[in-house]
Amino acid sequence: MAQHHKSSLPEKQCVACGRPFQWRRRWARDWEHVKYCSERCRRSGPAPASTQHEPDMAATTMTPQRIRRSS
Ligand SMILES: [Zn+2]
Repeated sequence: MAQHHKSSLPEKQCVACGRPFQWRRRWARDWEHVKYCSERCRRSGPAPASTQHEPDMAATTMTPQRIRRSS
């Protein structure tokens, strides 16, 4: 069942908060360039690239184990 929206306003996703927002009249002029849902988001800017901590890989960097054989 597809829900039909009463008004089919274009939507975009805010690059700052990631939420979808709808077209507003005030953006009529430069809708193409609108990236943020609000002034606030605009200031905060785009969300930082997803924090990708390399899980264990970094921690478990091969520590060369020198096995000293005492003969
Ligand atoms: Zn936003």
